[in-house]
Amino acid sequence: MEEKKLIIIAGPCSAESESQILETAIALANTNSISYYRAGLWKPRTRPHTFEGVGAIGIPWLQKVKEITGIPVIVEVAQPQHLELVIQAGIDAIWIGARTTTSPFAVQALADALKGCSDIPVFVKNPVNPDIQLWIGAIERIQNAGVTHIYAIHRGFSGVEKGNFRNPPQWQIAIEFKRLREDIPLLCDPSHICGNTNMLASVAQQALDLNMQGLMFEVHINPAAALSDAAQQITPAAFQQLMKQLVVRKENCSNYFFEYMLEEYRRQIDKIDTELIQLLAQRMSFIAKIANLKKENAVTILQIRRWNEIIQNCLKQAEMVGLRYEFLQQIFDLIHREAITQQSLLMNNNESEVCVS
Ligand code: PEP
Ligand code: MN
Repeated sequence: MEEKKLIIIAGPCSAESESQILETAIALANTNSISYYRAGLWKPRTRPHTFEGVGAIGIPWLQKVKEITGIPVIVEVAQPQHLELVIQAGIDAIWIGARTTTSPFAVQALADALKGCSDIPVFVKNPVNPDIQLWIGAIERIQNAGVTHIYAIHRGFSGVEKGNFRNPPQWQIAIEFKRLREDIPLLCDPSHICGNTNMLASVAQQALDLNMQGLMFEVHINPAAALSDAAQQITPAAFQQLMKQLVVRKENCSNYFFEYMLEEYRRQIDKIDTELIQLLAQRMSFIAKIANLKKENAVTILQIRRWNEIIQNCLKQAEMVGLRYEFLQQIFDLIHREAITQQSLLMNNNESEVCVS
């Protein structure tokens, strides 16, 4: 089977000076592993009065990168004026940043401007907020402009519990994106997900294991001196090391034994899934009986002591059977919510939707 060809985008968060751009690019070119050299010219920073990019004066630096290394260059555009300058300069590809994707007005303005230059590849980052429809909507706007080479970049989401991440990945959203838009290659940007350098490799590996088609990394010749996103940038040498460490797995395997066993295991899983569904239905039939009982005796639906008992039971059994407690607890949380919804419907003869969430 053919080896998977990943799209690897690397380069500094921002273009800062001609020497920073060229030195980083030459070092990256020597790794022989990048498809595009990235650099932000106009930086959408959260607060004003921080470094907001060098703007159009950085364009000739990137043209020089292309001339010297032969590597295609990609920049972020947020406004039609940016796009115009970038197209005039023959920049190879553009990306739309997370803050821009959040605004349908801004995306539509870019889409309108793209109508005359629809052969440029466009990479669309997810919006900062975890709204998959907004992300897909942005892609549709770009697609409606006639752009044929469209890619998506998963860079994590803000406004959700952070843990150790700068922008938690919320992998389920990336998975759902792949399901809904199988036709759009999905890349991952571990740098903006992590906000640090020590988790980059594990996030990148996770993205590859989810069968993403590429990665974007922020790489700076001297990360400590970077004018933006210093904490998450790595040196070209660290980038090369990281790339060597990643395991690229194939999407499929035509080995007879592999296929046979996989099918067999999946058959077993399908059988168990059917049993699970039947058991859930059986469990719910008792909820209906309980609802009647509670209604006749005017007893409240929520019984917090009982809910606690169920949770405690999960905790005990999870350990015994080797399942993660958090996993079981989430499942039972859903079941309990549905039980409350069903009881509310039955006890209040309420046709309108009751949803406990
Ligand atoms: C960037 O890539 O430098 C950037 C600003 O990213 P994002 O839009 O994902 O925040
Ligand atoms: Mn950045």
